[in-house]
Amino acid sequence: MEPAPITVKYCSECGQPWPVEELARFGDRLICANCKIAYAQKLREGVASAATLIYAGFWIRFAAVLLDGIILFVAGVVVQLLFAPMTRSGRMDLMLMALGFEYLIGMIIGATYEGLFVSRLGATPGKMALDLKVVRPDGGPISLGRAVGRYFAKIVSGIILMIGYIMAGFDSEKRALHDMMCDTRVIKVSKPPL
Ligand SMILES: [Zn+2]
Repeated sequence: MEPAPITVKYCSECGQPWPVEELARFGDRLICANCKIAYAQKLREGVASAATLIYAGFWIRFAAVLLDGIILFVAGVVVQLLFAPMTRSGRMDLMLMALGFEYLIGMIIGATYEGLFVSRLGATPGKMALDLKVVRPDGGPISLGRAVGRYFAKIVSGIILMIGYIMAGFDSEKRALHDMMCDTRVIKVSKPPL
């Protein structure tokens, strides 16, 4: 009897040829025994290699921005209540001062929210709710400094009729202007198929 021919396929991570039965299937990728542990670890962290990043499109990102907007709007209302005695005083100097404080505190809250959530957990609550994550081009995590910088870059994206945001709908890697400025990408988190 003739031995069955061995089918050779290539590992998606290291590119080495292996008999197909020695490769494990992860979604549409084949992974060899040598790469399996490291690859499974990357999947658990929601970080697959750059070749497998699934960029999140404009509309799902828009939905995430709306969710975060609701949370920050509520925070803004609380801040306005704190300054209500000043804004209702009828004195122009106090009203202008209250407006300035509200603007400044709103910015500090926004930068802290964006900076801490994105650097610690990879996403704001709005993005987490929709399984989105902010990463570097290689899929790696975002530092606190970059996350805070990205908050201010978003203000630039929003200045002219949100054009900086809308750009995400036209870029091949779905980058908004603030992603281009900070060298970040927004991806869909891949759930480990284990
Ligand atoms: Zn391999």
